[in-house]
Amino acid sequence: MNVQCAICDQIEDIDVNSFQAKRLMNRRISSYLCNNCHDRIAEKTNKRHETGNFHLYSSKNKDKRQSKRQK
Ligand SMILES: [Zn+2]
Repeated sequence: MNVQCAICDQIEDIDVNSFQAKRLMNRRISSYLCNNCHDRIAEKTNKRHETGNFHLYSSKNKDKRQSKRQK
């Protein structure tokens, strides 16, 4: 099964029985990333984590207590 990388347009032949191929055929993922691009993105993400410019959504400590209505 030929799949085209969404970033570099490289066409790769992946096993039609692979988990990735099944996901593509089921359209659970709309784009395929080759290993090179996948690694590159993972690297960038890690660097952003290191520089601290990338903020993960931390659980906000909102006060969820709702004012109780008194009848
Ligand atoms: Zn690629």
